[in-house]
Amino acid sequence: MSIDSIKTVAVLGAGTMGNGIAHVFARAGYSVILRDVEERFLQRGMETISKNLDREVKKGKLAEADKPAVLARLKPVTDFAAIAAADFVVEAVPEKIEIKRAVLTEADKVLRPEVILTSNTSSISITTLAAITKRPELFVGMHFMNPVPVMALVEVIRALQTSDAAFATTMELAKKLGKTPVAVNDAPGFVSNRVLMPLINEAAYAVMEGVATPEAVDAVMKLGMNHPMGPLELADFIGLDVCVDILNVLLEGLGDPKYRACPLLKKYVAAGWLGRKSGRGFYSYGLS
Ligand code: NAD
Repeated sequence: MSIDSIKTVAVLGAGTMGNGIAHVFARAGYSVILRDVEERFLQRGMETISKNLDREVKKGKLAEADKPAVLARLKPVTDFAAIAAADFVVEAVPEKIEIKRAVLTEADKVLRPEVILTSNTSSISITTLAAITKRPELFVGMHFMNPVPVMALVEVIRALQTSDAAFATTMELAKKLGKTPVAVNDAPGFVSNRVLMPLINEAAYAVMEGVATPEAVDAVMKLGMNHPMGPLELADFIGLDVCVDILNVLLEGLGDPKYRACPLLKKYVAAGWLGRKSGRGFYSYGLS
């Protein structure tokens, strides 16, 4: 499908990533069908979008008068059939292959045959997801970063089966959102997590072995390497459980023991210390 014929986009999942992705498409002038399984998840997603638009108004990035038009372009739905009107789809449901399989199979049936289907997965093989559908040549990885309205990068991942045309359209569309797409081939962890996770893992080893405190490790990376966030601060933000899951994907997919999750990371996860979302990880967030 040509880039100019894409007017309506469906986003599957209204969680952390889905509402951010819906936000940036609506902001760029696209009509968005936002689909989740229950009304309350849609409501929460729409509230987050509204708050994040307010933040953009405060920062002077969006005119206050434009906010209602952006919100009006969003159509929250629970009915799967409603996504049939979409010209392009981004899947952002939980990182579980069974859930993705069910959603992609269903979407494949409902969508017009020429519609490009993309996934925001952070670690599942795009080639495997493409093979679930009957349109593997129209399947592309579209890996947005969290928080989506703020982060410039979209990793655009080419499955083994992806056609040049579908890939080019997805790259172009990311640009229309004001993002910077970077072309990547399908491999475990793509580039972002392939490079980031070993950094986080090594930082955890440094703490476990008593080389330095989390504060000291993060200070070295922020002040010495100009990273805006230290690796452990970032790990807490991502979720330590998510970090361990991604390291396991790298270990399994690449078969190299250098990707083994640090025992300290696994211990924190076992204790329920998952980072910001649980109130405690390498740092305390005063929630528990
Ligand atoms: P989340 O749990 O915040 O949101 C997932 C949403 O999907 C929930 O609202 C859930 O109700 C909904 N959902 C479940 N089944 C559904 C279905 N059948 N149809 C429609 N919606 C359904 O998860 P998230 O953090 O937004 O992650 C979504 C995807 O994005 C995952 O693949 C994840 O790996 C990827 N990702 C996450 C991040 C991050 O930092 N959180 C970054 C990049 C990519």
